Amino acid sequence: MSAKEKMPASADRLATEAETVIVGGGIMGLGIAYELAKRGRSDIHVIEQEYLTSGASGRNGGGVRMQWSTELNIRLMQESIEICRNFASELGINVWLRQGGYLFLIRSQEELGRMEQTVALQNRCGVPTRILTPQEALRIVPELHPKGFVAACYNPRDGVVFPWPFLWGYAHAASELGVHIHTYTKVTAIEARGPHSFVVTTSKGAIRCERVINCAGAWSPAIAKLLGIELPNHPHRHEILATESLKPFLNPLVSVLSSGLYFSQSMRGEIVGGITVPDVDDGQVHLGSRLRFLEMMSAELLSVMPCLSQVRVLRQWAGPYDVSPDGLPILGEPDAVPGFYLACGFVGHGFMMAPVIARHYAELLCGGPRHPVFDRCRLSRFQNGTSEKEVMIIG
Ligand SMILES: Cc1cc2nc3c(=O)[nH]c(=O)nc-3n(C[C@H](O)[C@H](O)[C@H](O)COP(=O)(O)OP(=O)(O)OC[C@H]3O[C@@H](n4cnc5c(N)ncnc54)[C@H](O)[C@@H]3O)c2cc1C
Repeated sequence: MSAKEKMPASADRLATEAETVIVGGGIMGLGIAYELAKRGRSDIHVIEQEYLTSGASGRNGGGVRMQWSTELNIRLMQESIEICRNFASELGINVWLRQGGYLFLIRSQEELGRMEQTVALQNRCGVPTRILTPQEALRIVPELHPKGFVAACYNPRDGVVFPWPFLWGYAHAASELGVHIHTYTKVTAIEARGPHSFVVTTSKGAIRCERVINCAGAWSPAIAKLLGIELPNHPHRHEILATESLKPFLNPLVSVLSSGLYFSQSMRGEIVGGITVPDVDDGQVHLGSRLRFLEMMSAELLSVMPCLSQVRVLRQWAGPYDVSPDGLPILGEPDAVPGFYLACGFVGHGFMMAPVIARHYAELLCGGPRHPVFDRCRLSRFQNGTSEKEVMIIG
């Protein structure tokens, strides 16, 4: 079956009653919908204001990695990459997982000291990351500027996926299991009528339901606000580009944490990469492209890989990061509104985390084991000061 045939048609009529309403048809909403339906739950409605790849999930770089600075994230990502490896056989669609590794370039001795600690932690968790000298890194990517870094970290099991088939795969499989997916349908109001009793108003009608899951990514603070809940995450524009196609030469995704640069070569040969550029951060989602990004991106990219100086950029675009204060997601039910669940705040790594978070969220909602991520990532951590910052964040 072709990828296009995997796209489910939008469910046309909105029901008036449901068990679960999921706001947002990105990877998180679709992943949770699929995992719930797989465990036998019915009456699930996914409400998406535009089309399925319109949010961050259709605009990202597809990087998936086990290199993190907290044990929780390392272990989650070991499991998530395992799910990615089995995605095609479980959901019948190729997501083009290529495990060419992530090569993080380190630019100072101080940064090297920090990275040695994170690599030791990764090794204790069974991730085979190594610190490399510049000469060793050049054996993996000979085109790197040899003076641009003092050391590197490399895990050959990290990789890159093609994001869209993940959404199509989850959406198609969820639809087959009875999930109703409504595209071009906007949630405009949510009323809590009591514990586990909501009325969700949309541009196509209202649904009464027992449970609402906020998977609206960078729009999640606005959705929570409909119920009077203030979330600490905020949208941040993140820009990315693709060049003309080159003969395949680059295996790993290369990143410089200190500048936020990352780039990889796609299966079509394009160099796809981005960099963090300061923005206004006024609480609104901005998706316009800027010349400033191209200037910063090309300067930093050429400092790392000068041989790309003549390569033409074909396309640039932006997507919304959903930035939480400590770089970890915000999950579970806020105490004030039983039945309203959060799955947001994933910054620039929500795509790779979605498969594992969706699985554990569905287990939790179906009365199964409660994964430690739900205690660690509660909204209340920001009030009681129990948040521990993840430092290996690109962006
Ligand atoms: C340029 C870029 C590069 C990135 N690179 C990577 C990477 O390499 N690896 C990685 O893991 N992650 C990466 N990310 C982050 C990743 O894309 C996100 O964390 C992830 O896609 C978030 O998924 P989501 O489902 O939570 O949000 P989204 O995909 O944004 O989905 C939320 C959906 O909610 C919908 N919505 C909002 N409001 C409403 C409403 N009122 N009614 C109905 N629907 C609504 C939106 O239209 C949207 O489709 C990147 C992000 C960007 C922008």
